[in-house]
Amino acid sequence: MSTAPNPCSIRTPRNRAPRSLSIVIPCYNEEEVLPELRRRLKDLVAQYSFPVEVVLIDDGSRDNTWPLICQYSQEDTFVKAVRLARNFGHQTAITCGLDQTRGEVVAILDADLQDPPELIPEMIEAWNDGYDVVYGQRRKRAGESVSKKFFAFAFYRIFEKVAGLRVPRDTGDFRLMDRRAVDALQSLRERHRFVRGMVSWIGYHQKAIQYDRPERFAGVTKYPFRKSLFLAIDAITSFTYAPLRIASYLGFATSMFAFLYIGVVVVLKICGISFPGYTSIMAAILLLGGVQLSVLGILGEYIGRIFEQGQQRPLYLVDQVQGEPLDASVQTRQAKA
Ligand code: UDP
Ligand code: MG
Repeated sequence: MSTAPNPCSIRTPRNRAPRSLSIVIPCYNEEEVLPELRRRLKDLVAQYSFPVEVVLIDDGSRDNTWPLICQYSQEDTFVKAVRLARNFGHQTAITCGLDQTRGEVVAILDADLQDPPELIPEMIEAWNDGYDVVYGQRRKRAGESVSKKFFAFAFYRIFEKVAGLRVPRDTGDFRLMDRRAVDALQSLRERHRFVRGMVSWIGYHQKAIQYDRPERFAGVTKYPFRKSLFLAIDAITSFTYAPLRIASYLGFATSMFAFLYIGVVVVLKICGISFPGYTSIMAAILLLGGVQLSVLGILGEYIGRIFEQGQQRPLYLVDQVQGEPLDASVQTRQAKA
């Protein structure tokens, strides 16, 4: 029996180990988790006979993160340490990490071990079945505040409705991608990046792997409510102009209400009924002022983004790079196979 892949099948199983694996990990003030992260990564890397690189991105930390990861890059041949020139934010740190990778498959993990590295073999199995993107989907989320869980719950559902793009619910950036998916993702150089949305946008063959998300191993979250809210706004504004449409509906509804109100007041006046003006005038001014300012605010969000995109600044700047686990000779893009 021939086992040659059928070129017309929608998804072709690969049925082989990847030629190389890169693991991208953004780190921001993560000194407390790094020793345990290193230990668990060492166990993972020891399982594989193909080359593995771990790209640790220091996103402008102010603690001992850089000295530690720089030391790891000198002691462990599989570690590449990259320091950004300042704190550019989680999504940009991931982008920088992906730019640095050379592996045929690339995994993205959080440094705090909430995305267990031990799930990578299962993800590689799915890659073997022909999937290009295998993402971790949270069955349970330990150690997160009720407000954060509620925010995440509401966000994914609202995003899906307004953006018309299905970003799998309850996922983070924990995923494994084939090189062609990484290259496609990296060709999108927009400034305000919502990586998990962009990965959904590129398509190809995607699959979820369910897991129970453990608590952060140590330290505190680097995503306070303010940052989560900004990420949500970035996500919505970079995938849809629905808020602008809602703004125009709001303006239209307010105008309709004003016409009705004027009609009623005129009729009442004809019938000899009139109200002293102060309260109603104040109410109208406040209502209209509020609506106008919110509409301007929504417009401003989009104009600000057009302005930043128009500046064409680089997405990030790198300060230092240490270690080169996968040199060009083991570069393993599929095209070179
Ligand atoms: N992170 C980063 N830059 C930032 C904020 C966070 O690189 O400005 C990293 C952080 O070190 C971690 C990952 O992004 O590896 C996710 O952050 P965190 O675990 O604090 O978020 P949470 O799991 O609480 O949402
Ligand atoms: Mg975390």
